[in-house]
Amino acid sequence: MKGKTTGSDWRVDRRRARRLQQRLLQWYRVSRRDLPWRRTADPYRIWVSEIMLQQTRVDTTVDYYERFVARFPTVEDLATATPDEVLKLWEGLGYYSRARNLHQAAKDVVARGGVVPDTYAELLDLPGIGPYTAAAVASIAYDRPHPVLDGNVQRVLCRMLRVEGDPRRAATRQELIAAGDLLMPSTGAGDVNQALMELGARVCTPTKPDCPDCPVRRWCRAQAELEDPTSLPLKPPRRTRPHVEVTAGIIWKGQRLLLARRPPGGMLAGLWEFPGGKIEAGETLAACLQREIREELAIDIDVGTCLASVDHEYTHLSITLHALQAYWRDGEPQSIGVDAWKWVTVKQLDEYAMPRADRRILERLAAEGHQLTPDTGA
Ligand code: SF4
Repeated sequence: MKGKTTGSDWRVDRRRARRLQQRLLQWYRVSRRDLPWRRTADPYRIWVSEIMLQQTRVDTTVDYYERFVARFPTVEDLATATPDEVLKLWEGLGYYSRARNLHQAAKDVVARGGVVPDTYAELLDLPGIGPYTAAAVASIAYDRPHPVLDGNVQRVLCRMLRVEGDPRRAATRQELIAAGDLLMPSTGAGDVNQALMELGARVCTPTKPDCPDCPVRRWCRAQAELEDPTSLPLKPPRRTRPHVEVTAGIIWKGQRLLLARRPPGGMLAGLWEFPGGKIEAGETLAACLQREIREELAIDIDVGTCLASVDHEYTHLSITLHALQAYWRDGEPQSIGVDAWKWVTVKQLDEYAMPRADRRILERLAAEGHQLTPDTGA
């Protein structure tokens, strides 16, 4: 293993910062991954990729990105799509407000002439674009010198500069942005930003930084001064995630089953799901489902057996979703606690954008060779 090198604060010496910038660019040119959004200069596509990459791994994003831009090759195509079409292409990627905001922002861009804004301030004005995405699109698509501060860059800079403040605090973030500013070249700002992001993703990883082979180790204080560079950045205290048990009804009326669209504005807004809801204290699965369906859709149902249960984790809570076979008994559905409802055939289920947990119920049933029909589980 190579020994430690002496790190020092490159912020105090502009020439040192410039050499670091050159090293980053040189490393990035040779080492960058060939990713589909790096093969285009189209600001719309770069914007789509940056929205998808928020909270999502690169490997997962590639397929979604390719399908999305194949279906909506221009901002006009996206602007004229229906919300269901957009959500369907986003299904499984999570954080669905990103898709809804991107769709709305595309409509705004088209209403203003169809050109994706080329300044940080105008980008920031669009729905779903925060400081990170505005800086990424402005620098990558338009070569504007705005430093990006995503989780990867934050980690690299905290370690290189031995920043021991909490990166969730505004003062620490300001310090990191100022450091990033010093690295912005007159041309190639997007490449410096992408180099730092790439470095964080592939070399200076959260738990196993490859310091011996890191291209910027000469500039890094953490590897020179700390026993364990992974002690930075300061980690937020672990929060326990609440867990809830939820029922979902696979409710049949003849050969069709009931789907309900979640209300706008809340969690998983606009997605179609098997209706149901949270189990209250002391309630059985069947009683919960009957109550929820009465409250949300004003119909009465008979409940059969539990067909499958799946565990699923969201950022702020975990759930166990129990899918119950059920049968319509009485009443015309009404949109009380749901945005819309439909009776659909089993074949049509694929046409609807559904939450991951509901889709996993279908996958589980298929894997177990369980045909989705009204005749089982009564
Ligand atoms: S990989 Fe090691 S040397 Fe490179 S920036 Fe991270 S902590 Fe520093």
